[in-house]
Amino acid sequence: MQSYLALVHSLADAFVDFRISQIPRSQNNQADVLSKLAALTFDHLEKKILVEQVFTKSTEPKTTIAYVEEEEATWMTDIIEFLRTGSLPEGEKEAMKIKVKAPNYELRGEILYRKSYLGASLRCVGPKEAAMIIDEVHKGSCGLHSRWRTVTERIKRLGYYWPRMYADTAERIRVCQECQLHSPVSRAP
Ligand SMILES: [Zn+2]
Repeated sequence: MQSYLALVHSLADAFVDFRISQIPRSQNNQADVLSKLAALTFDHLEKKILVEQVFTKSTEPKTTIAYVEEEEATWMTDIIEFLRTGSLPEGEKEAMKIKVKAPNYELRGEILYRKSYLGASLRCVGPKEAAMIIDEVHKGSCGLHSRWRTVTERIKRLGYYWPRMYADTAERIRVCQECQLHSPVSRAP
């Protein structure tokens, strides 16, 4: 409890205003139902309700995915260049592509974000970082080796974006050696 309290204090410092008020039980039905959800298995809910299972305690140090420098040009390079300087790649077709895509993105400092109209903007990553994120989420701290669709949904919820997220994730998981070792062997004739 002490370490949770310390965490609350440190988080509270980040807000301009922070207060705790007691809510009468009669007005607390929704939160009450939500808290009970945690005691159920909710795999069946995942398609209808966004449920994120948190496997580590919030008081444990988090594994963070380090920012990775991409050495070569990536899908982001031309978009960043256009947003920063207004210059377009050579060739009418290429230039047009960037012009059409650019309004979906914004540059904050050095980092490119894909605008989202439903939630928070998504941080764009290049192929190297994408590969690391897939591995981190797929293998995870609990070694779950989740399926590609689950992994991609989770990566989106974590706030990352790159084109072909689903295809890249499926492809990378398909060659995961540990999954191949432990996958059930089909004995059907
Ligand atoms: Zn695996």
